[in-house]
Amino acid sequence: MYWDQLTSPQVAQIDKNTPVLLPISATEQHGAHLPLATDRMIGEHFCKCVHDAMTDNVLILPMMSIGCSEHHSDFAGSLSIQHVNFLNILIDIADSVTKYGFKNIILLNSHGGNQAIGQTFVEVFGYRNQNMQIAMLTWWRIALGQLIPHNQSGKGGCGHAGEFETSLMLHIAPHLVNMNLANTKSNVATYPWAEGDLLYGAKGSLYRTMQEMTPTGVYGSPLYGTKEKGKEISRIVTQHLVAIVRDMLSC
Ligand SMILES: [Zn+2]
Repeated sequence: MYWDQLTSPQVAQIDKNTPVLLPISATEQHGAHLPLATDRMIGEHFCKCVHDAMTDNVLILPMMSIGCSEHHSDFAGSLSIQHVNFLNILIDIADSVTKYGFKNIILLNSHGGNQAIGQTFVEVFGYRNQNMQIAMLTWWRIALGQLIPHNQSGKGGCGHAGEFETSLMLHIAPHLVNMNLANTKSNVATYPWAEGDLLYGAKGSLYRTMQEMTPTGVYGSPLYGTKEKGKEISRIVTQHLVAIVRDMLSC
């Protein structure tokens, strides 16, 4: 069920154990070959996949389509909400949901820059609402073991707008992908401990803007992206996502 497509009396009657998904994403540069809406469209795609599998047993809130993207702001078109404001927005939305008695809230995240504040939300809101289940799921993290074998570009290839995001967009919205403008890997190396991507997290965090990390705005290897790979990534992630959301329902 999509929250905003129901009527108020319908929401009032829904089983309060129904997991409520709050999708959070971003509107930001994804290089020359992918649209600014990439993270939103990937997030909406996974919401639809969960909805297709669980229809009446899940509630999907309206998408938060602007997130924490200050580090992308050297590239035109990127929009951003400051971390502290974003945290407060998430708390306000979750407070609203809680008011109607729902007990399970899951952030469904499709943007790297939202991970830290999403985790803070889980800790802050979870502590204040210990009778509830509060969780965050980031799509590329929930099925790492199954996704890694599909990485053909090697370490550092599946970063921002790289092999996996490009593959997913070729699957979801091919009309918005221009592979003629996809670049070869342009990652700027610093210390080995600071290098990582979606699949291989860095050992430590070293602050750099995206422009410092990569002059093209793409961190990774988009030329390895294919539609077929996108379909397979989607299948694997959906399988794990649905299993986790079902877990929350059965508690
Ligand atoms: Zn992205």
